[in-house]
Amino acid sequence: GENGAPILEIHDLKKHFKAGNFLSRKVIKAVDGISFTVNSGQITAIVGESGSGKSTLWKTIVGLHQATGGEVYYLGKKLKTMKDKRAFYQQVGFVFQNASASFNPRMTVGESILEPLRAAKWNPKERNGRLERLFELVGLPMEKRNAYPNELSGGQQQRAAIARALSVNPKIMILDEPVSSLDVSIQAQIINLLKELQEKLQISMLFISHDLPLVRYFADQVLVMHHGKLVERAKCEELFAHPTHPYSEKLIRAFL
Ligand code: ADP
Ligand code: MG
Repeated sequence: GENGAPILEIHDLKKHFKAGNFLSRKVIKAVDGISFTVNSGQITAIVGESGSGKSTLWKTIVGLHQATGGEVYYLGKKLKTMKDKRAFYQQVGFVFQNASASFNPRMTVGESILEPLRAAKWNPKERNGRLERLFELVGLPMEKRNAYPNELSGGQQQRAAIARALSVNPKIMILDEPVSSLDVSIQAQIINLLKELQEKLQISMLFISHDLPLVRYFADQVLVMHHGKLVERAKCEELFAHPTHPYSEKLIRAFL
């Protein structure tokens, strides 16, 4: 489904970085007045070339960067204070390009996946039940719980990272290039897993990727970023059929 209630609403969000020195002050407008809505159960892809501001956008949404301006609403409530943002941050499931970013190399995979549940004060019995369920959801054999991250293959590591992201039962996941460091054959497996999980659990996803074939296969709506601005926002099939902005047209033409 792609027409649920709004889960995340972004209004005129800005993140400007100060750069340079006192002789030549520069401001990098990494995110420069972006507005969009993510509905529940919807996959929103963000595309744009390297440096266009995709990562800064989600980092500002979840409060890892203090916004220069604009507002974020989660489930209809404005995130006002840093405390609101921290609470929101803990409810988001993150998956990054490198699964290793989700793991402490000195903890077993099972311990790492359970960590957010321990922080959320689940009791040991509940945690173990949840761990079994998570391993089943992501297609990892239970005996891998005692392995260390570097003892898993790249694909298994990303499955474990997805299990960790799911542990808190998120309504929304943020995936920043989640398959771009994997072999092509493994990419398809992980994308299909994400799609299956999205359908089964009705999670909204913010999916950042420069891989247009993948975006076309995976997303409901697409946001095209260019120099910190949103130059186009469209349903996936509309964007690929009729890009309206010259920059998106160029992107699509390069892909076709
Ligand atoms: P993308 O994820 O699309 O590749 P980023 O969001 O990483 O782009 O970067 C957007 C712009 O913001 C780039 O010009 C980058 O150099 C700049 N930038 C990102 N993070 C910082 C930071 N912490 N301090 C200063 N500039 C930054
Ligand atoms: Mg990035």
